Amino acid sequence: MSIADKKSEVEQMMIEACKRSNRQIDDVNMIAVTKYASLETTKSVLDHHMLHIGESRWQDAKSKWEQLADRGTWHFIGHLQSNKAKDVVGKFDYIHSLDRISLADAIEKRAAQLDITVNCFVQVNVSGEAAKQGIAPEQCAEFCQSLLAYRHLNICGLMTMAPLDENTENSRDVFRGLRQLRDELNQKAIFNQPIHHLSMGMSNDFQVAIEEGATWVRIGTRLVGKEE
Ligand SMILES: *Cc1c(COP(=O)(O)O)cnc(C)c1O
Repeated sequence: MSIADKKSEVEQMMIEACKRSNRQIDDVNMIAVTKYASLETTKSVLDHHMLHIGESRWQDAKSKWEQLADRGTWHFIGHLQSNKAKDVVGKFDYIHSLDRISLADAIEKRAAQLDITVNCFVQVNVSGEAAKQGIAPEQCAEFCQSLLAYRHLNICGLMTMAPLDENTENSRDVFRGLRQLRDELNQKAIFNQPIHHLSMGMSNDFQVAIEEGATWVRIGTRLVGKEE
C-alpha cells in the first residue's frame, strides 16, 4: 500500500471511531510516528500533508529534523533522559513524556536559556505495569501542582500508553482512566487553565482511544510500516 492509501485508511478509521462516539473529527489530531522511517519516507509523509511528526529518540530523529524541521510540527514521544533534554528543547514543539521533576528541571533550564515555552504532556502509567514509564495516577495531582512553578512549561494535557494486547478492548479501561484523571484534575482546578488534551492510541488501538476521548493519536507502523 502507498502512503496515500495508508493515510486514507487511517483517516477512514478515525472517522468511524468518531461517529461511534459522537465526536467531531476536527477534535482528533494525528501524529505520524516516523521513528521507524527513513529520511525519504519522512519526506513523503510531509508531502502527503501529515504535518505532525513523532520521534522517540534524538539520535534517530536528528538527520530528519535537521533537513525537514521547518516543514512540520515535531513531537517528542519517547522516554527522555534529563541530560538529553537540551538536545530536544527548542527543536520539538511538544514533549509527550514528562513524568518526573528532574526532567521538568532540565526542560525548564534549557527553555529559560532559549527564552521559549515548551508544550508538555504529563505521561501517566495508568495500567500500572512495572516496565512502563509515567507517573502513577495517584501522584499525578501533586506532580501537576508542582509543575505550576515552572514558567517555561506549558502543560497541555496527559499522555499514556496502553499495554500491548491483541484484544484492544483491554486498552479501553486504560484510556478511560486517563480521561477520568484529566477530568478530576480539572475539577480540582489544579491548573490555571483546564487542560484539554489526551495523547493516547497507537496503530493497534487508536480507534478505542478515540472512542474514549483521545485528542492526539500517535500512529507509526500502520502509516509508514517499519524499515529499520
Ligand atoms: C512507537 C510509538 C508509537 C507508534 O507506535 P505504532 O504501534 O507503530 O503505531 C506511539 N507512541 C509512542 C510513545 C511510541 O513510542
